[in-house]
Amino acid sequence: MKYRSIIKGWKRFLQEGANAVACPKATQDVKLNTINRNKCRDDHMYGPMNPLDESNSFWQKIANKWNSASADEAKGMRCGNCIAFDVSPRMRECIPIVQSQYKDEPVLNGKNNITFNIKIENIEGNSFDDIDKKIAKKKAADFPDMPENADAGFGYCWMHHFKCHGARTCDTWAGGGPIVDDDQSYDEQEKINQE
Ligand code: SF4
Repeated sequence: MKYRSIIKGWKRFLQEGANAVACPKATQDVKLNTINRNKCRDDHMYGPMNPLDESNSFWQKIANKWNSASADEAKGMRCGNCIAFDVSPRMRECIPIVQSQYKDEPVLNGKNNITFNIKIENIEGNSFDDIDKKIAKKKAADFPDMPENADAGFGYCWMHHFKCHGARTCDTWAGGGPIVDDDQSYDEQEKINQE
């Protein structure tokens, strides 16, 4: 038992040392992130477009995807409390594009030594990006019917591989999140790598 925990600790040490390599690809590549986000929007109803609005028709529509869920119940099922939603400290290091949105200024990613600028978000120039900029600084209370156990910022989705916002959702939501610690985040990455 002790031996296994030493091995696990050593693996963690190596992973942390190689963090720049271990960051999910979409966190380092805005185009890939945008492609994956649009795919989730088109194939899995990632939305609502603007979570600051009531968006009742969206919530009713996605509730119909989950048998017997009401629109009110659907409003409680957000990225921010989904099992695939990663807001661990190491993931926040991995997603400087998101960090730049929080801070509204260029941010140096310490591990990769690369400076990202908020303008990079405009690479595809669509309204999702415009709204993402608006919601980046909002608090949980700003989003109608936001559940208390959901994180209201951006995080990384391990299921669809893009940075999603905690106040949105998609039709593959699963409870149990968010992922808030590094060990859990690394475990998730290990699982994905083994698939
Ligand atoms: S799988 Fe979860 S975290 Fe990913 S987009 Fe869907 S609801 Fe959000």
